[in-house]
Amino acid sequence: MSVLVWIELTNGKPAATSWEVLGKSRELAAALGVPLAAAVIGESTEAAAREAGTLGAQTVYTLTGPLFAQYRLSAYAAGLKQAVDAANAGVVLTAATTRGRELCAAVACEMDAGMAPDAVDLRVEGGKLVAVRSVYSNNILTDVTFNTPVQFASVRPRSFPMPEANGGSAEVVALPPAIDESQVPEKVLEVKSGDSGEVSLADAGIIVSGGRGVAADPAKGFALVAELATVLGAAVGASRAAVDAGYIPYKHQVGQTGKTVKPDLYIAAGISGAIQHLAGMSGSKVIVAINKDREAPIFERANYGIVGDLFEVLPALAEEFKKRLG
Ligand SMILES: Cc1cc2nc3c(=O)[nH]c(=O)nc-3n(C[C@H](O)[C@H](O)[C@H](O)COP(=O)(O)OP(=O)(O)OC[C@H]3O[C@@H](n4cnc5c(N)ncnc54)[C@H](O)[C@@H]3O)c2cc1C
Repeated sequence: MSVLVWIELTNGKPAATSWEVLGKSRELAAALGVPLAAAVIGESTEAAAREAGTLGAQTVYTLTGPLFAQYRLSAYAAGLKQAVDAANAGVVLTAATTRGRELCAAVACEMDAGMAPDAVDLRVEGGKLVAVRSVYSNNILTDVTFNTPVQFASVRPRSFPMPEANGGSAEVVALPPAIDESQVPEKVLEVKSGDSGEVSLADAGIIVSGGRGVAADPAKGFALVAELATVLGAAVGASRAAVDAGYIPYKHQVGQTGKTVKPDLYIAAGISGAIQHLAGMSGSKVIVAINKDREAPIFERANYGIVGDLFEVLPALAEEFKKRLG
């Protein structure tokens, strides 16, 4: 038996959030008294496999080659299933990214195994995995236990800290792919990359978000949000009202039907604090709200509140941070 973590690669680079899961898994594997393994699937896997070793994996199963150059669910699910079998995994974990969620679910389904999606914490009790999930807009934490021999969970990004390298090195086991191109129904015709240089919401340590409060001049409002984000090295978020109004694309939406984020600092400008928005960001360590209505519900959740017009407060903050951060 072992604990197996899928290390997600994007353009050959491992996702930081996969390392968070691997770090936590050291603890789980120790509590279960089993080895920790990683699965790396991609066109080239050597560097990520080496890094997985330094971060605690004892064995890394790799599936390498052009078949895996682009993420395609059927190819990756077949690959991960091979790694699960090779590792004799009893616990299989992925980060709950868009890909991690579907891959985890697809392989769990294939194996008729229990799966906890989007877990926010993991522990071992009585020799079994317990996955903690946040439900009802983050108001209740539920413990999920499994009654299948293999237990799957995807883990929400930033649930655990980045692990320290422990200087270890893993045994790398290269698995020959069990399927070939003719068995993969998905074909990638074109890859369109998003705006380059943008900080991704899921990984961001700081997020500056805008809401319907920018309505008087949405283009200017989001330019001010983006300017403060640039100064702070932050990602740009938004409320659904701002997205629905067409001020900013959906990929920036934070909340129940958008992304769940957990930054160290969340600055909400012109956002009222509806429960569906809070569902996506109330796990932030420090919340700063800027709103011209002192009764806005967001102030009940905020650690710091600025009552004022975002068109004045955002540039003033950007200016001040520029001075202080040089
Ligand atoms: C099933 C469902 C799912 C949903 N999912 C999501 C979700 O994922 N994410 C999400 O965000 N919402 C979601 N919503 C919508 C949610 O209920 C709210 O409607 C939405 O969050 C409101 O967005 P807002 O705070 O930007 O707008 P509003 O509630 O209109 O608030 C705007 C705020 O801006 C302030 N303001 C106005 N002008 C200024 C100014 N110049 N300076 C400073 N402050 C100003 C106002 O005082 C007000 O508080 C969902 C709703 C449903 C029913």
